[in-house]
Amino acid sequence: MFRGGTILAADAAFSQPEAVAIRGDRILAVGALAQVLEAAGGSPQFIELDGRTLMPGFVEPHTHALSGAILDKLCVYVGMARFRTTEEVLAQLKLEAEKTAPGDWILARNWDPSIQTGPAALTFEELDAVSPDNPIVVLNASLHLAYANRAAFAAAGIPEDIENPPGAEFGRDSDGRLNGVMKNNVAYLKVLTAYSGLRSVDPVDALVSLARKFNALGITTCSDLGLGGITQGAGDWTILKDVAATGDLSVRVRGFPIYTVADAWEAAGVRPLEGDSLVRLAGFKLIADGSNQGFTGLQREPYLGTDGRGLAYTSPEQLKLLAAAWAGRGWRLALHANGDAAIDNVLDAMDHVRDSGIDLAMVRPRIEHCSILHDEQIARMKDLGVSASFLIGHVHYWGIALRDRVLGPERAELLGRCASVERAGVGYTIHSDFTVSDPEPLNMMQMAVTRRTWEDPEFILNPSERIDVTSAIRALTIEAAWQLGSEHEVGSLESGKFADLVILERDPRSVDPEALRDIRVSETWFNGERVFEA
Ligand SMILES: [Zn+2]
Repeated sequence: MFRGGTILAADAAFSQPEAVAIRGDRILAVGALAQVLEAAGGSPQFIELDGRTLMPGFVEPHTHALSGAILDKLCVYVGMARFRTTEEVLAQLKLEAEKTAPGDWILARNWDPSIQTGPAALTFEELDAVSPDNPIVVLNASLHLAYANRAAFAAAGIPEDIENPPGAEFGRDSDGRLNGVMKNNVAYLKVLTAYSGLRSVDPVDALVSLARKFNALGITTCSDLGLGGITQGAGDWTILKDVAATGDLSVRVRGFPIYTVADAWEAAGVRPLEGDSLVRLAGFKLIADGSNQGFTGLQREPYLGTDGRGLAYTSPEQLKLLAAAWAGRGWRLALHANGDAAIDNVLDAMDHVRDSGIDLAMVRPRIEHCSILHDEQIARMKDLGVSASFLIGHVHYWGIALRDRVLGPERAELLGRCASVERAGVGYTIHSDFTVSDPEPLNMMQMAVTRRTWEDPEFILNPSERIDVTSAIRALTIEAAWQLGSEHEVGSLESGKFADLVILERDPRSVDPEALRDIRVSETWFNGERVFEA
């Protein structure tokens, strides 16, 4: 029985009970001290909060847990948290090459030309100069783009006349020759899958250890919004079930099979909501476009200084067909859309699904990232019952890049419109899209509450979209649980739910919003057991 601190139930009333009792893996009682004591049978084991704050464990509604666990093991991190310039990134890669045997691969992740000073892309020229003897692949932070050297293309047997896969592109120079740039993972996986190291990492071990890292951040439920990306098929689901069977998995995982390998999912005969409380298939993932800061988000108007409007990963017609087909089989849908034109396409597809007689309330459509969002689109979301999941790091880390170099100030204001959707009564969550940004719930809360930008800490991007701490807590607990179809089992402290809890050293509502990220996670409990202690 937990007592003696602040308890935030994150239930519908956002109540503040005096005590919580758990038994086995479940929450037994929540309420006033006397009442919880009675429910606990009069002599429970007490856990004194000593003024700390007890909440439901954080729910991360959009991560790439499986591919992230593997990338985390295989890749050198060269992102913004480590290097401000691409020159430093290339110098680091050279150091890596010096300690790597000829022929061995070098993988790097989180390079981001939209905020790391230097060239807009890494091509054969830059990466051959790092090493002509080691295949090198550098992943863009968005994971929508990657860059390779000639050795990587040679190892993968990519011919000069390779055709672009649908919705993807192998970049070419002004003479029409391949230059090493790859747009959309459908393209870069053709290169990456030649790397045998991908198969040398045990995904089961990788996910078990990633779960421990997530626990240290207070996360007890996460997600995989690209299930199928590792094995290029339903094997990813087998991996998740294998991880669950070890008994060592300390985070729940909600998987979304990805449409790029739809045939494999169909052949495997997977069913909606298959699985159990530990690992479950929560919905099906469709992708309408790419990444705004990668200039592949699909826009109504061209990008700054170009006539390009981005890339439709699926055409409007295809999106309608796929959405109706999978929703028609009982699947909930998560639809990735960054640009405003991609959001239009998703909403049109949802109109189509509704017109074909499917109840959208059963489909729970959610728009992933939902980055450049206009008022009239919010109204359509409300009408259709579509919710949003915002990659809140777009505001903090990429806000200035999007304002000054990608979309201009007016469209940048439309990023991550938490307050507007809240006012409109549209459900929403915030997420990290790990590995795109780090899955730190308290940092995400701070970004949503302050909207302060990383490149210019004096600048607040559209202050009217700031939300209060209570809303941010909901977005990372009960609302996220709902989007993952797990509101009946996690996301709030209510009797009968799983005892997935986090204890914070301070109450997020009582600290300076600029210091939310500094609150320390004191303990994390999963399934009624303490899995992390600071
Ligand atoms: Zn994602």
